[in-house]
Amino acid sequence: MTMERRNFLKLLGAGAAATATVGMAGCASSPAMANGRKVVVIGGGYGGTIAAKYIRMMDATIEVTLIERNDHYVSCPFSNLYLGGIMPDLSSLTIKYDKLAANHGINVVQAEVTGIDAAGHTVKTSKGDFKYDRLVVSPGVEFRTDEIKGYDDQIMPHAWKAGPQTMLLRKQLEAMKPGGTVVLSIPLAPFRCPPGPYERTSMIAMYLKQHKPGSKIIVLDANPDIVSKKGLFLKGWKKHYDGLIDYRPAKKVTEVDNKNMSVLIEGLEEVKGDVINIIPPQKAGHIAHVAGLVGPDKKWCPVNPMTFESTLQKDIHVIGDSSIAGAMPKSGYSANSEAKVCAANIVAVMNGRELTEMSGVNTCYSFLSAKEAVSVTGVYTVDKVKNAIVPVPGSVGVSPDLSELEAVYAQSWVKNILTEMSS
Ligand SMILES: Cc1cc2nc3c(=O)[nH]c(=O)nc-3n(C[C@H](O)[C@H](O)[C@H](O)COP(=O)(O)OP(=O)(O)OC[C@H]3O[C@@H](n4cnc5c(N)ncnc54)[C@H](O)[C@@H]3O)c2cc1C
Repeated sequence: MTMERRNFLKLLGAGAAATATVGMAGCASSPAMANGRKVVVIGGGYGGTIAAKYIRMMDATIEVTLIERNDHYVSCPFSNLYLGGIMPDLSSLTIKYDKLAANHGINVVQAEVTGIDAAGHTVKTSKGDFKYDRLVVSPGVEFRTDEIKGYDDQIMPHAWKAGPQTMLLRKQLEAMKPGGTVVLSIPLAPFRCPPGPYERTSMIAMYLKQHKPGSKIIVLDANPDIVSKKGLFLKGWKKHYDGLIDYRPAKKVTEVDNKNMSVLIEGLEEVKGDVINIIPPQKAGHIAHVAGLVGPDKKWCPVNPMTFESTLQKDIHVIGDSSIAGAMPKSGYSANSEAKVCAANIVAVMNGRELTEMSGVNTCYSFLSAKEAVSVTGVYTVDKVKNAIVPVPGSVGVSPDLSELEAVYAQSWVKNILTEMSS
């Protein structure tokens, strides 16, 4: 249901105000004892950079080490625009860590985290061990490729972690003959960025319409229906790409044939494509599994909804895509919001102060064409009875229509959030 923007802004204001009070004495549980001065953060993406930065901003006496395997980070948000051919390269989506490190005195270490010794409060990496009092884990997602027989991401790229995979998929689209068929396979929810596959469908359709006459895109969705912003996507597809998108719900790809360039649905129905983009089902980042942070579902990490502390391992907090954050979608904006709440409460605990109430916010923008976008927004809090993150009543809503203004908001959002992460 679309909510009135005025009401939403009120709620957003409330959410932002609550987030802005982070680090101050809150009104939740009893004071905790200060227990150390070293925090290690794993993962320099949407969640990890912000957690590291905000801990240092709120208490500069805490030593913070951020461990990331790469020397740069490429944002998934907006990478679909590169696939649509309206972004020349990924440079505007790429950040480095030097300014973040210098501005906030964060010790950024480029290394692979190989293990976590929870009892010994030690992170094991390719560059040695790091001791912590509190650990923040934000490693993003891993793919459950074992659920797709024969899957090879060099032949049927996922492009669901931005970088070389995104470039490979674009090259394949460019090399495809006119009149060709693109197949896009969407896994069962939950996955990173609920509207992302439908934005990708729109961007690929736009590319085909402009550059590959007579081509089409077949969307095989394992879900029974479009999982986010359905009405707006259908409206945009009708307006811009009528007849070009063949959307098929409840079609779960379980097997691929790399030689024949085809996929099998539930091992039965075969669908062929010239370019095949498989988005595999997902789970928490590998390190979360190694460290015993994953719950009985064997996929995601259960956490305390106020502090994001793991319910399975003491003094370890999990944020972003890997965590079970109740109603909050797995998005970059959510990861950013969770990181701030988590940072505030780590600082509170380390200083023996009361916890701050959780207040989260999310907006996911999606482009339908080069100029028009749509959005979905929500404000989130903790339901103390359910002990889970829930939407603030009336706060979740979508933009009223496709609009050029939403596209301007989206451009500004990505610029701001990447600047916040890298400076
Ligand atoms: C196509 C697409 C479009 C999207 N669009 C949007 C959007 O418009 N808006 C939005 O809000 N979200 C969007 N998202 C979702 C967003 O990208 C994720 O939700 C977000 O990146 C999650 O942040 P994170 O910190 O959990 O993980 P990430 O940002 O993936 O960061 C994880 C980091 O951890 C590092 N890492 C992992 N394991 C290790 C290890 N063992 N050692 C060292 N480093 C490690 C990785 O290298 C990575 O840099 C989109 C996603 C996709 C795929």
